[in-house]
Amino acid sequence: MFENNLNYAQQQDQEDALKNYREKFLIPTNSDGEELIYLCGNSLGLQPKKTSEYLQQELNDWAKFGVEGHTDAKNPWLPYHEFLTNSMAKLVGAKPNEVVIMNSLTANLHFMMVSFYQPTKTKYKIVIESDAFPSDKYAVESQIKFHGFDPNDGLILWKPREGEELCRFEDLEKIMSEQGDEIALLMIGNTNYYSGQSFPLQKITELGHKHNCLVGFDLAHGVGNIQPNLHEVGADFAVWCTYKYLNSGPGSLGGCFVHERHADSQDLNRFAGWWGHNKETRFNMRHDFDALSGAEGWQLSNPAILSMAAIRASLDIFEDAGFDNILKKSKKLTGYLEYLIEELNDKRINIITPNNPEERGCQLSIQVKSADKNLHTQLTNSGVISDWREPDVIRVAPAPLYNSFEDVYKFIQQLKKVLN
Ligand SMILES: *Cc1c(COP(=O)(O)O)cnc(C)c1O
Repeated sequence: MFENNLNYAQQQDQEDALKNYREKFLIPTNSDGEELIYLCGNSLGLQPKKTSEYLQQELNDWAKFGVEGHTDAKNPWLPYHEFLTNSMAKLVGAKPNEVVIMNSLTANLHFMMVSFYQPTKTKYKIVIESDAFPSDKYAVESQIKFHGFDPNDGLILWKPREGEELCRFEDLEKIMSEQGDEIALLMIGNTNYYSGQSFPLQKITELGHKHNCLVGFDLAHGVGNIQPNLHEVGADFAVWCTYKYLNSGPGSLGGCFVHERHADSQDLNRFAGWWGHNKETRFNMRHDFDALSGAEGWQLSNPAILSMAAIRASLDIFEDAGFDNILKKSKKLTGYLEYLIEELNDKRINIITPNNPEERGCQLSIQVKSADKNLHTQLTNSGVISDWREPDVIRVAPAPLYNSFEDVYKFIQQLKKVLN
């Protein structure tokens, strides 16, 4: 159904229902002012042109009102996080009271584990996927240690089979049937940052719950890229960042989901702070901690308004474009990338990412056998921004909001040159 030529790629861009969204972003350029082929939205999303206006609004109101901006700013800072809730909830398939923007990703993962990893002497193990993002692995290991267990025993890796790159659900079932009684938590990174594999959230959650385990997901590479349907899936918690597919700027705030079944739970441990306290009495300052219902009750600090303004600028674009439309384009764009890679017909190349569009987002991880980092350096010099993972994998993620079919076509031309 696809064609391997520039005309065709440009034709697809003409017919693309989201073609006007690329103009809403600042595309990085080389020293001659030519646009780079930016395929790294899985690492740091591009800046929406409107972001500076959203930030400027808050800078102006800070200048004009000082502390009174908390209540008098055009977008008052006290409830500012609430302005993000509805759009954020839609993107992860949650109810509004199940999500909150706060802290950063790894911090949120720890705070969620304070509540959702409460091991006992016999049920204390945590399962993660074997190629988990290093920060997740460190966080999980340190929680296990914190509770007095040994990660060598307490951390279970869900691994691909010998000679394979992807994790099979059957193997997770096997782990659960053998050790389910000892497992307290399943914490899976979805979509996997390295392979681009999206795991079946519903099946994983049901499997975990069947064995009396809690189930959480790290959606750093999922949010804005796949629809995780967190509420329906029934996950206990999830965390994510907003600077990858959500384009909110380096180090921006993270997001958190707590299923509504835990909204008012009194038996969960939690590390509390004043922003999680009842809004009516927060400023009386003399009340005992009275947790807000839902995800908001896990807030600690008054959040960074400038960062939230950037998140708002980005979420407004998602809202305007419609996430279903974005996902539809994403499938086609990544399908085109896959087709062109296959057209290269190069025996050194192997796409690690699943070929079923339901088991991946926009990223493809391309293994180039016997290549080294030099390949990536040459690609960069030719104007392609991609990501290299040792020993031999290039990760490319055409982001449907700002990448074009032409980008994908031109990337393949550069890859072909570099491979020869
Ligand atoms: C990007 C990413 C992180 C980074 O964590 P920060 O706390 O935002 O620095 C952690 N985990 C995963 C899975 C990621 O993809």
